[in-house]
Amino acid sequence: MEKDEHCIVCGKQGTEGLFIFNSFVCKNCEQEMVATDACDDKYLYFIKQMRQIWMKQNA
Ligand SMILES: [Zn+2]
Repeated sequence: MEKDEHCIVCGKQGTEGLFIFNSFVCKNCEQEMVATDACDDKYLYFIKQMRQIWMKQNA
């Protein structure tokens, strides 16, 4: 079964990627995250997005 999911980081649709707490992260963003330095703005943005997911999960 293939279904397009909206990436929580970039907002684009994709079928390849991973799910974190039922939220989709596309392969591009996943690879960027892995390669991103902890001081990078994109990393901070990702953490922000992740926090929103965690808050939803804990609500
Ligand atoms: Zn993405």
